[in-house]
Amino acid sequence: MNGAAISFSSKKHTTTDDSTTAAELTELHLRACDVVDFRELLKEIGLEQQEPTIIFQDNQAAIQISMTEGETIDQMVRRLRGRVVRRASWRTVDGRRTYIPGTYSGGVMTLTTPQAEALARTAAMHVGNQAREAVYAANADLVKGYQRVETLDTKTCLICGVADGQVVKTGESRTMLPAHPNCRGVWVPVLKSWRELGIDADEVAPGTRASMDGQVPEYETWRDLLEKAGPARRVEILGPSRARLYAQGYPLEALVKDGRVVPLAELPKRGAA
Ligand SMILES: [Zn+2]
Repeated sequence: MNGAAISFSSKKHTTTDDSTTAAELTELHLRACDVVDFRELLKEIGLEQQEPTIIFQDNQAAIQISMTEGETIDQMVRRLRGRVVRRASWRTVDGRRTYIPGTYSGGVMTLTTPQAEALARTAAMHVGNQAREAVYAANADLVKGYQRVETLDTKTCLICGVADGQVVKTGESRTMLPAHPNCRGVWVPVLKSWRELGIDADEVAPGTRASMDGQVPEYETWRDLLEKAGPARRVEILGPSRARLYAQGYPLEALVKDGRVVPLAELPKRGAA
């Protein structure tokens, strides 16, 4: 400020990244949080900032990943992966069907198309979730908690499916979303009721939410739909072994432990449950 440093830090991250680009993105996120804090502080003391704050970053890949504004997933994929020099294909090598990854040029990272798609989708979800969190923080006086909302289709993973509908009070810890590549989970705010806000009015009736089976009541979760799905659908969602355990009354929570799916080897064997 006025040519002088007002904050600096040099320390180890509390999370582990698997590439320098991912580490730089973590760093960008932390600095963005600082900037929000400082802007809030300045606003409180009557120096509200009207202009955007510029954050500098020297990692080319991180800069390019961050520039998601207004791009479609396809555009992001091309930017990350580069343009196609040779398409991915299946070929017979030594009598075996083998996947030959495509080659690309001009991208920022060496990625296959599915990897680039997963990264682009996850980055877009991440940016969206950060924006949501900023809105919730700015309206903290109206928010009393958060509810996890997962997409109700067969692609939602077991970990996220089981967590669908979970409610956490403000101030309590919650899983940061996206929880994994291609994760589509979001936290929506649980708002204080009109009466909690001191307004004598009734709440609006619950609405509906989209699902793999069309519109369902808003309070139906992934578990409710799994319960209603037929045996064949449950096999599609859970796989045959877990679907069998589920039919035998094995609790869904026990299929997920410490944020991961319990491997089949650690689950009760056929006939044992
Ligand atoms: Zn998931």
